[in-house]
Amino acid sequence: MFVRILKLFQWIKDSISLQILKSISSILFPSLVWRKESCQKKIWLTFDDGPTTEVTSFILEVLKAENIKATFFLVGKEIEKYPDLFNAIITDGHIIGNHSYSHKSGWSCNNFTYFNDIEKCQKLMPENKIFRPPYGRISPLQIKEIQKKYKIILWDVLSWDFSLNTTPQKVKKNVLRNTKDGSIIVFHNNQKSFKNLKPILQEIIQALKNKGYNFCTTW
Ligand SMILES: [Zn+2]
Repeated sequence: MFVRILKLFQWIKDSISLQILKSISSILFPSLVWRKESCQKKIWLTFDDGPTTEVTSFILEVLKAENIKATFFLVGKEIEKYPDLFNAIITDGHIIGNHSYSHKSGWSCNNFTYFNDIEKCQKLMPENKIFRPPYGRISPLQIKEIQKKYKIILWDVLSWDFSLNTTPQKVKKNVLRNTKDGSIIVFHNNQKSFKNLKPILQEIIQALKNKGYNFCTTW
């Protein structure tokens, strides 16, 4: 019981800090992309982390079956582990983004290490101009520096697929309730989230199609 309460507090703290970060950063850093508001009936599906054995292949199969494209923010050290999966994502025509080499939080490492980690990842992928900070945790100074080279992509719809306290049905309900024109939706391409993602990914895509949304990858 005590552990559950602690987890609930952590969840509330994370949600609030994300909201605060969102509000402050939208004012101070208008270049951060949280949502593409003027895009009618267009949405952006994004998958963070990975590539990961089993999970990435599953996601690619679903996207192929639904004939849509998505954006994959990949982690450099995982690219090194799974070059075939990395190539499969590109061959299938999806967009690749930088998610750093070792998934460091910008709030808990120094800027030099943080920037190097991003460039180390960049060396493993085709030229690209988009970056997503791991955990969405990035300092104002880091934003200032990184935006010289990359468009920093965040999100307005967090699926919470990684949460231990959720269920696939809750993830589905959350995504469908919160998606609107121009939404950027985050799912995870990792083992931790797979039990919540696997049963509902295709259902979510079909439901979004039924609502008339088109899936975009242009940033
Ligand atoms: Zn991540």
